[in-house]
Amino acid sequence: MELADIPLIDHHAHNILKPEIFSEYSYSAAFTEGDRPSIVNYHGRQTLCYRRSLRDIAALLDCEPTETEILQQRQKLGLEKLTELCLSRANIETILLDDGFLAEEIFPLEWHQKFLPVRRLLRLEKLAETLFEKADSFEKFVNEFHTQLTNLPTSVVGFKSIAAYRTGLAIQSVPEKEAQSYFYSIKDGNSDSLSAAVPKSPFRLTNKSLIDFLLSIALEIANKSQIPVQFHTGFGDPDLDLFLANPLHLRPILEDSRYGDVPIVLLHASYPYTREAGYLASVYPQVYLDFGLAVPLLSVSGMRETLRILLELAPTSKIMYSSDSNLIPELYYLGSRWGRKVLAQVLTEAISDGDLTARQAEEIARSILRENALNLYQLRSKI
Ligand SMILES: [Zn+2]
Repeated sequence: MELADIPLIDHHAHNILKPEIFSEYSYSAAFTEGDRPSIVNYHGRQTLCYRRSLRDIAALLDCEPTETEILQQRQKLGLEKLTELCLSRANIETILLDDGFLAEEIFPLEWHQKFLPVRRLLRLEKLAETLFEKADSFEKFVNEFHTQLTNLPTSVVGFKSIAAYRTGLAIQSVPEKEAQSYFYSIKDGNSDSLSAAVPKSPFRLTNKSLIDFLLSIALEIANKSQIPVQFHTGFGDPDLDLFLANPLHLRPILEDSRYGDVPIVLLHASYPYTREAGYLASVYPQVYLDFGLAVPLLSVSGMRETLRILLELAPTSKIMYSSDSNLIPELYYLGSRWGRKVLAQVLTEAISDGDLTARQAEEIARSILRENALNLYQLRSKI
């Protein structure tokens, strides 16, 4: 089965980091979720993914598969040419970018638009943090949050939540009074730290009551306007508590009739809670899945197994392709290469098992690599 000709919709990725910022990172940092120096600089280079990826990138750049040679080739090519090469070889038609990750250090959407059509995913917690700093009252804060989410620029096609990274996916209903009192106590704490003569770092929202309260507003708006909401689920950097990133915690949200029409997208195959994610997609009409980050970060057999597990139970109309690329353009290429390869292998197995006919497998490949995302984000009318 050959899927190279199917143009991809990468429905969840991030903007590329400015080179002057990335030069402070090790190249290996782009291939691990770890952020501690000994992981990034030593153990992160000992994974199957890293070793395989060096060979893939060397073949793309036509050099020896060592980090030193690859870095030299990148330098020679320059970031724009490198990005163009990675995106064109990936055969990506459109990409949806969450620009809330390292927001001050990345290229803006317009920069990426030079290479291909781009749409935006609005990161809810980032918006809340920006508004929190400006608002002098809880009412103004909540009103502005509401206004911004109901008057979206046309570039925005979905919301993204990183609740898993902050206070976990067990999102609860929070009385307004409770959220209000936390708003003012955090404001008071913030102004105390302002009076100390230390440089102010950007505000980070970590209060569960406030986050859950704001998410319920966003979900109600999404319910009305049918905007998909992507949730980070499963593994990520150690800023998250993996236990609280299990998508099963979302049950109260999935059962709540106020949000019954919101398409909820569980990102990253919820790895290692992949079976749980597949189950949720099989019983809740509004739940969708993808396999970005697991592909291309796992071993080849791990990527294959992840796809197999998703397909055990989840309807094929619910599964989408993404790369979760960030920092460097090579990840767009690696995600596409392994997403297609592993999907083809797993669908071929399903044909020989008698689960699918060859024709059905072809149709499913198109659905997973592009059609499902085109439909869910209503992109046909927006590209
Ligand atoms: Zn992401």
